[in-house]
Amino acid sequence: MEPGSVDDFRYVGARRRLIEAIRASGIDDLEILRHFDQVPRHLFIPEGMLHRAYDDAPVPIGFGQTASQPSLQAFYLHLLRPNPEDRILEVGTGSGFLTALLALMGDRVYSVERIRGLSSRARKVLDAMGFQNVALMTGDGTIGWRKFAPYQVITVAAASPEVPHALVDQLAEGGRLLIPVGEREVQDLLLIRRREGEILQESVREGCTFVPLLGRYGWDEDGG
Ligand code: SAH
Repeated sequence: MEPGSVDDFRYVGARRRLIEAIRASGIDDLEILRHFDQVPRHLFIPEGMLHRAYDDAPVPIGFGQTASQPSLQAFYLHLLRPNPEDRILEVGTGSGFLTALLALMGDRVYSVERIRGLSSRARKVLDAMGFQNVALMTGDGTIGWRKFAPYQVITVAAASPEVPHALVDQLAEGGRLLIPVGEREVQDLLLIRRREGEILQESVREGCTFVPLLGRYGWDEDGG
């Protein structure tokens, strides 16, 4: 990838400040910070929101959705530790920014988004950046993407009333799954691991607020 070819150097200073904010949030993993420097976040943010592209805050991306807060995404990467040989499932492509970071760290990324307009926008940006190891699908990610399972890493950026069992089923031995689970307004971020056939679960952050995961094993589409 040649990020320089599609980057805009006006944003270099803002990106440096964002990386400092991520570091201040407690993530000092240099590999992760380097990837935030390599991926021009403004390319994933709609034009009207460009002035907020490098804020360490959630940013609206249209369709009633938001790109997650960068320091939270760094926390995700820190906990999931994608390796170069890992196959990764992402549920909730959204802007595609985390997709790009995952594609730099893992082998292949399979990302599912229920809103077609978001998926096609992410596709355009990822193609323009030259990523060839990302497959996107429009559909219900609560049922996973069985065709390419099992996955060493599964990441969910929307909140569910419970852990979708289809995602646990598609987790490889040694695999890590990160998902916010709880009530509509507030959730705990759960890290689930498969070790020697056993499923281990721990809460890694309490009191988070994510957009709802809508689908068969998430919240009902009608908001119930
Ligand atoms: N990491 C993304 C997060 C986007 S917000 C980013 O930073 O841009 C979460 C996304 O999950 C939204 O785009 C929403 O449409 C999507 N989503 C919600 N339920 C889903 C489901 N069942 N399957 C796939 N995507 C879903």
